[in-house]
Amino acid sequence: MRNRTRLAGALALLAGVVTLSAQAPPPDPLHAVAERYVRLVLAVGQHDADYVDAFYGPAEWRQQAEAGKIPLAEIDARAAALEAEITTTGVTPPNPRDAELWGLRRQYLARQLSALRSRVGMLQGKKLTFDEESMALYDAVSPPKAEAEFAAVLKQLEARLPGDGTLIERYDRFKAAFIIPKNRVDRVFQEAIRGCRQRSMGLIDLPIQERFSVEYVTGKSWSGYNWYQGDFKSLIQVNTDLPIYIDRAIDLACHEGYPGHHVYNALLEKNLVKDRGWIEFTVYPLFSPQSLIAEGTANYGIEVAFPPAARLRFEQDVLFPIAGLDAARVADYYAVLELVDRLSYAGNEAARRYIDGQIDREGAVAWLEKYAMYTRPRAEQRVRFIDQYRSYVINYNLGKDLIRAYIERRMGRDKSPDRRWREFIALLSSPRLPSGLK
Ligand SMILES: [Zn+2]
Repeated sequence: MRNRTRLAGALALLAGVVTLSAQAPPPDPLHAVAERYVRLVLAVGQHDADYVDAFYGPAEWRQQAEAGKIPLAEIDARAAALEAEITTTGVTPPNPRDAELWGLRRQYLARQLSALRSRVGMLQGKKLTFDEESMALYDAVSPPKAEAEFAAVLKQLEARLPGDGTLIERYDRFKAAFIIPKNRVDRVFQEAIRGCRQRSMGLIDLPIQERFSVEYVTGKSWSGYNWYQGDFKSLIQVNTDLPIYIDRAIDLACHEGYPGHHVYNALLEKNLVKDRGWIEFTVYPLFSPQSLIAEGTANYGIEVAFPPAARLRFEQDVLFPIAGLDAARVADYYAVLELVDRLSYAGNEAARRYIDGQIDREGAVAWLEKYAMYTRPRAEQRVRFIDQYRSYVINYNLGKDLIRAYIERRMGRDKSPDRRWREFIALLSSPRLPSGLK
């Protein structure tokens, strides 16, 4: 009896194996198209060093791209053919329940390709205005803001920061009390990462091997960067060219790590690459609509992980003491930063005027000092960023605002933290375009 049971059990197990293999995913009707897209992105990367932000697909595809540099005109012709093919070929999802996701996938591939063609055009010398460029590359346009809007916020800052000197000098003096001493930067960051991770990972299902490492670098136009390496690992670089203020700890830890870029890339890898075999997500072209979603979710993720009250508590109880800063001034500091944050679109205005040739480099620096509260060294760093990344700047603030509005709409009347997390994770796990956030 016992043996027979065992045999029956073994047969059942075997049947299970057979059933499993019979249920292997059907062939992917878009696989060949996706492969051609990835190869085109890698080909553009041979002309533009900033273009391929991440790639963890087959190593030989990269080697082949490096071995034979395809001329830009040829890349464009191939991309045009592929774009037409995607928009005209009907695709039946293997599982009807996935119809929406497959629809998103197809739109995403077509739109990423059109952005690729725009970038190729720019590399060939085509001139676009700031707004034309951001629409072509990021599928969005930053709304124009009047100087009067910034002036109203500056007036409030004037009242909050009394004393001698110009407003930017007073702001600089005020902030000096919140610089993390150099020898404490890493400890503060590690603690911020631990806090962001702890608050993020409860509802996020990521493989056990997920991790990221932190490196400190100099001589960059950005303040932090996440380099996703595949297999659920990221390298995060923190730029130490300029003093690092205490608010950067949580901002960078959440933005680059949890639940920002690291989690976003890891969820795409898990849900779309590993579970579905959608190879196009093994490559991330920086100058593409994907960046608005990436930067927008990374910035919005800061307040998802740390709603304002929770953040102030964590700063006061954990980070300020580790940094050796006066924890009694947490609320004061963040009240001023909240005002300064309302000036963030002044940065887009500076970039728009500068790219469109209405102001020169010095004019852009002066604009950032006057309206966006950037000290001179920071304004100069920012203009270097604009030189390198141009209309990419809109992805941070406009991206965050579009993502927030989308999540709030999806939440309806249920404003619970759990619901917010669920909507946020669903967005991180799907290929939604900026114009699809409506
Ligand atoms: Zn970012």
